[in-house]
Amino acid sequence: MEKTISIDTQNGKIPVYIAKKKGIKNINLYVKPLDGRVSVTAPHNSDTERIRAFVESKSAWIEKQLRKAAEYEKIKENRLTYESGERIRIFGREYVVERKESQRPNIRTEGDRLIYGMPENIESEKKQEYFEKWQAERLKAEAKERIAYWEARTGLKCSGWAVGRMHKRWGSCNVKTKKIRLSIMLTFESPDFLDYVIVHELAHLVSKYHDNKFYDMVERFIPGAKAEFAKGPRRPKR
Ligand SMILES: [Zn+2]
Repeated sequence: MEKTISIDTQNGKIPVYIAKKKGIKNINLYVKPLDGRVSVTAPHNSDTERIRAFVESKSAWIEKQLRKAAEYEKIKENRLTYESGERIRIFGREYVVERKESQRPNIRTEGDRLIYGMPENIESEKKQEYFEKWQAERLKAEAKERIAYWEARTGLKCSGWAVGRMHKRWGSCNVKTKKIRLSIMLTFESPDFLDYVIVHELAHLVSKYHDNKFYDMVERFIPGAKAEFAKGPRRPKR
C-alpha cells in the first residue's frame, strides 16, 4: 500500500512516498539520487503521523540529498562547468575542481582536488568530451581490477568488457557474446555500487532475466544487494 504525504522544507513542499510493508522493523528513508524522489518504507502497522514526524526530523539530511540529486541532474544534462570550486564525486570521494591554464587539456587528482588544465577559450563541449575521456580511463582502471576479482570469486567469466557513454543504463551484458559494457556514469557512484553492477552483469551469464536464479546468484556474493541496489544507487538513512 502506498501513500503520499508532503513535508515542508526550506525549498517548499516536497512529496514523500510511503510504503507500509509487512516484515520490516524500522522506518527507512531514501532519496533517489537519479531524480530526487523521496520515499519511506515503514512497518505495516505504523502510524502515518509518526512517519511524518520521523521524516521531518530528517529534513536537513533530505535537503542535502536533494542538492546532490540536483548535481546529478546537472551531470546527466552535461551541465557541469568544470570551473574552480565545483564539487565532483568520483567513486564516493568528493573533489573540488581547480582550473588551470594549459594548452592541452589534462586532468589529475591531488588529495581532494581535481586539477583540470585547459586552454582559456576552450568550448564547453570540448571540456565535457575531455572529462568523459578521463572518466572512461578511471573506470577502466577500477573495473579491470574489480572484474578480475569478481570473476575469480563467482567463477563466471565474461569474454570481454568495455566502458562507454551510456546515460540510461549502468551496465549491460550481451548473453550471446558474453560481453559486458559499463557506463562511465558509474564513476559518480560509490565503489560498492560498481561492484554491484559488475556482479549483476556477470550474473546475467547464469540467467538473461531478473528472475530468482539471477538474484540467487547476485545475493550469494553481495547479500542484501537486491534491496540495496536493484533500483539504483540509493543511499539509505536510518
Ligand atoms: Zn540486468
